[in-house]
Amino acid sequence: MPIFEYQCDSCKQEFEKLVFAGDEPDITCPECKSRDVTKKMSAASFMGKSMGTCAADAPKGFS
Ligand SMILES: [Zn+2]
Repeated sequence: MPIFEYQCDSCKQEFEKLVFAGDEPDITCPECKSRDVTKKMSAASFMGKSMGTCAADAPKGFS
């Protein structure tokens, strides 16, 4: 389940949202309820995709 990071363009609040595959619900800022938000790539989904290629973040003995 991907977690996306969003940043509100109005108040600059950053927040995370679980988004199901193929589902892009209306995202609103939890702070000011604005829909003017920008989606960012979450660190969690980055880790999942780069597993095995990003040796710096891998625990010792991972490979
Ligand atoms: Zn906001």
